[in-house]
Amino acid sequence: MAKRDWSWALLGILALVVRYFAVQNPEGTDEIYSRKFFPGIRNVIDLTLGNLPFPSVYLFVATVFLVLIVFIIRFKGRSGWKERMFYTFKAMANGLGALVFFFLVLWGFNYQRTPIFQQLSLKPKSLNLEQLKSELEITRRLAVQYRSRITQDSVAIDSIMPYSDLERLVRENMHDNLDILGLNFTGKPRTKMFPPQGFMRRMGILGIYFPFTGESYIDPSLHPLEQPFTVAHEMAHSYGVTNEGEANFIAWVICTNSEDPLLRYSGHLRLLQYQIRDYYRMAPSEYKEWVKNLSVGIKNDLNSIREASEVFQPFSIELSRKSNDIFLKSQGVKAGVNSYQQLPMLAFAWRQRMNFFD
Ligand SMILES: [Zn+2]
Repeated sequence: MAKRDWSWALLGILALVVRYFAVQNPEGTDEIYSRKFFPGIRNVIDLTLGNLPFPSVYLFVATVFLVLIVFIIRFKGRSGWKERMFYTFKAMANGLGALVFFFLVLWGFNYQRTPIFQQLSLKPKSLNLEQLKSELEITRRLAVQYRSRITQDSVAIDSIMPYSDLERLVRENMHDNLDILGLNFTGKPRTKMFPPQGFMRRMGILGIYFPFTGESYIDPSLHPLEQPFTVAHEMAHSYGVTNEGEANFIAWVICTNSEDPLLRYSGHLRLLQYQIRDYYRMAPSEYKEWVKNLSVGIKNDLNSIREASEVFQPFSIELSRKSNDIFLKSQGVKAGVNSYQQLPMLAFAWRQRMNFFD
């Protein structure tokens, strides 16, 4: 790099300027970036990095170290504190610029697209206790039905197909059903296992889409029954879905529309977990009676999932406790007992719409 080279810093600024205009034009961003440019990136990444047998994020980390080493060598090559300071400043500006540029170009402009909920004109509204109970009943029945297609045994399900088969299966289901949601399938997005085991859980997440390598990762310690839903969630991010609630909703639609009982069960089970949590918060004593009659198989599965998650405690348990606290406090405000979790609300809105069109 020449002495006066500010290329990466400038590219970063240029990307921010484009972003400024994208913010003001969500429809244009959706049409030009999300539906034309980004699918190209999707395919290039899937045909290259996607074929690597290990998480490409390792390459990203190696690159960062390499750049740091080059920086240190060049830094030592300069004499005088003024020159060194100037060089450090320039290197930092270029490094930051490169990060901003690649983040936005490879995925980040999707933040400025028209939200998927808006595209589907789906308006989530909070549920009252009666609505939640009837929703919970639907989900419970479906969960029982699809669990019985997987096994007749009430012992917790703790092993499924090999991971590579699961990843392929979820992708096939994305291919078959993504158009229900107005999104187009393209490329061959990868969701890889990211060792070391439990590392991501300790960070407080189960999976992540990493824009710089264009692939997503899940924690290998995830319970087998959580894996199908979580892979579908991460793959939703691969299609330029940035919002967590939207990714959850898409994963639920994909899983519960699948031909495969395992995917269906995984989708219903995840929704059931959210609904159960809401029920417990809204009517603890009623919930305690209800849970007594929950089928033994499902109870065992839920306990098995909980036990798997307790092996690796997140570093910031404080954070999850706080968010729960805020929820309870908001409940204390006599506004009534309403559900604030997004997935139960969205599932409710979606089921109503589907009945309407049936
Ligand atoms: Zn996510």
